[in-house]
Formats: sequence, C-alpha cells, structure tokens
Amino acid sequence: MVAKSRVVILGAGPAGLTASIYLSRDGLSPIVITGDLLGGQLMLTSIVENFPGFPEGILGPELMDLFKNQAERFGARLVYDRVVKVDFIVRPFKIYTSNDVFEAEAVIVATGASARLLGLEAERRLMGRGVSVCATCDGAFFKGKDVAVVGGGDAAMEDALFLTQFANKVMIIHRRDRLRASPIMQQRVFSNPKISFKWNSVVKDILGEKSVEGVLINDVNSGAEEILNVQGLFVAIGHLPNTEIFKGQLELDERGYIVLKEGSKTSVEGVFAAGDVHDHKYRQAITAAGFGCMAALDVEKYLGLR
Ligand SMILES: Cc1cc2nc3c(=O)[nH]c(=O)nc-3n(C[C@H](O)[C@H](O)[C@H](O)COP(=O)(O)OP(=O)(O)OC[C@H]3O[C@@H](n4cnc5c(N)ncnc54)[C@H](O)[C@@H]3O)c2cc1C
Repeated sequence: MVAKSRVVILGAGPAGLTASIYLSRDGLSPIVITGDLLGGQLMLTSIVENFPGFPEGILGPELMDLFKNQAERFGARLVYDRVVKVDFIVRPFKIYTSNDVFEAEAVIVATGASARLLGLEAERRLMGRGVSVCATCDGAFFKGKDVAVVGGGDAAMEDALFLTQFANKVMIIHRRDRLRASPIMQQRVFSNPKISFKWNSVVKDILGEKSVEGVLINDVNSGAEEILNVQGLFVAIGHLPNTEIFKGQLELDERGYIVLKEGSKTSVEGVFAAGDVHDHKYRQAITAAGFGCMAALDVEKYLGLR
C-alpha cells in the first residue's frame, strides 16, 4: 500500500507528538509513524517532576498518553510501525516501513536517541527506581543519599558534579585507571570533596527488588568484587541518536546526530528535524517538545501555509 500525506512525522516522542499537535490543529492531519516506543523515552521512566503544568509531577507514560490524546483529538493519524528506509532524493519523499510505503511533501524526523546501557537485567527493571540515565531529570530525587555514576567522559563528570548539589556522596565507577574527560572537568571532579573514584571497575549487578539498594562492582584486574552501598546509579556512558536509516540521506555529524542548517531545517529542503535526534546538549522533554513546535511551524512555512 502507498499512503500519501502532505506531512509525515517519524517518531512519536515529545518532539514528534508536539509537531503533530500543531500540524493537525492547523488542518494538515499528519501521519505519525511511531516506531517501537510510542511516547518515546519518557515511557521508560516513572515520575517526571520538571515538565511544566504538573506541580505534583506526573508519570512519564501518563504524560505521553496525554500528548497522544491531544494529537489524535485534532486528527493526527498514528501508524504503529517502524521506518526501515527513506528516500529523500525523490519528490515526493518516500518513507518505507516494515509493511507500507508513505509519500510526503514534507517530513519531520523526530526519532530521538537512546541512552547506552550496561545491558544488565536489573538496569531495565530499576530504571526510574534508582537507576537513571538523566542526572538533570532525576538528581533532585537523591537529596542526602549516596549515588554512583558510571562513565569516564565529560558527560559523566558533569553528571557527578551536578549530583553533588543533592547527594551526600558521589562515587564514579570507571573501567580504566584514568578518565577520558577534558582536563578542566577532571580538575573539577578531583577537587570536589564529595566525589570519590572506583578505578578499573565495572558494574556487575544492581541490587534491590523495587529500588536500588547497592551496586556490585568488579575489579577488572584482580577480579575482586565489592558492594557499594548506594541508593542511586547514574549510567553516563553516552547516547546513540536513532539515525542509522538517514545515513547517506541527511547530513549527520561525527557522532551521528542530524545537522541543522537554520531553525529545524536539515541538509535536504523539505526535511526537518526535532528533538534528541539533533540535540545532544539539552536532551529534555520540554526542549524536545519545543523543537517539535518549531519544526511544525517551519513545515507550514515550507508548504506555503504561513
Ligand atoms: C529514563 C529516562 C528518564 C527521563 N526523565 C526525564 C525527565 O524527568 N524530564 C525530562 O525533561 N526529560 C527526561 N528524559 C529525557 C526525555 O525523555 C527526552 O529528552 C525526550 O523524550 C526526547 O524526545 P524526542 O521526541 O526527541 O525523542 P524520543 O523520546 O527518544 O522519541 C523518539 C521516537 O522515535 C521513534 N523511533 C525511533 N526510531 C524509529 C524508526 N526507525 N521509525 C519510526 N519511529 C522511530 C521512537 O519509537 C519514539 O517514538 C528522560 C529520559 C530517559 C531515558
């Protein structure tokens, strides 16, 4: 089947769904291809306390359900499939999912990013229950507690420093005997009295059934095991933008993020991008939603509606 729509949005996280709210409310009835995670990364967490409008906080999946309902109320058409290939050379653009082909005059790419994980069973089970991939989002939950950060790059050091504002103690677990982080970040973490290090160590398991009660680490040289009594574990070993299918179609930077030209415009006229798929700096639901709004308005301008 070939389905035609003036606009197709790839991804249904905060960015894609916000774009779809704007476009559907303006009468464009966009098709939104959801991928495997309708609602995006917030589906992987519990309470969200920093999204404006919810003074008591709201569960991530509940928040994303509200986004979806708002988009559908105005006529956004959700397609529960995953994009496997795109052709942005032809006009109209072609988007291939596992089952169908879609044609569009304009496309918004909002496929987000995925945090790299350690790959432990307990990590998924305790995500949002002491395990976090976002210090900015979850740091405030750890007032007066002891936490660990896994990683050795700038992002991990930034997280560790940020967490010292709340936590009692912050332990950095790193698999090597030196950091990859820039000298200035190293200087800051080494001079912070709340931060200590577990060198040459990897996380073997996360302890606790309903919340984090400790972390089992393993010395890569001696094989010795140790339990760290922490209530939080921040995994800061990087993010992967979901851009594999855009290689050769859109300009990507060296890390795979989509490069924007002006506003939400990508290297291909008529293709726009929004959210974590291009933004490796802020990575927040509210910024992703804001970028989704920008992309929708840019699409309307491109289609001559503004
Ligand atoms: C555990 C966790 C907790 C967080 N907590 C907070 C918080 O408290 N506050 C906050 O502001 N931020 C938080 N964040 C960050 C926030 O979730 C992200 O910044 C935000 O979701 C990014 O939105 P996005 O729409 O750009 O991408 P995403 O949310 O990553 O959504 C991407 C969408 O693209 C789809 N997709 C991917 N590949 C394809 C494909 N090939 N075809 C079709 N669709 C595809 C996915 O299915 C998904 O629907 C958290 C993140 C995580 C992981």
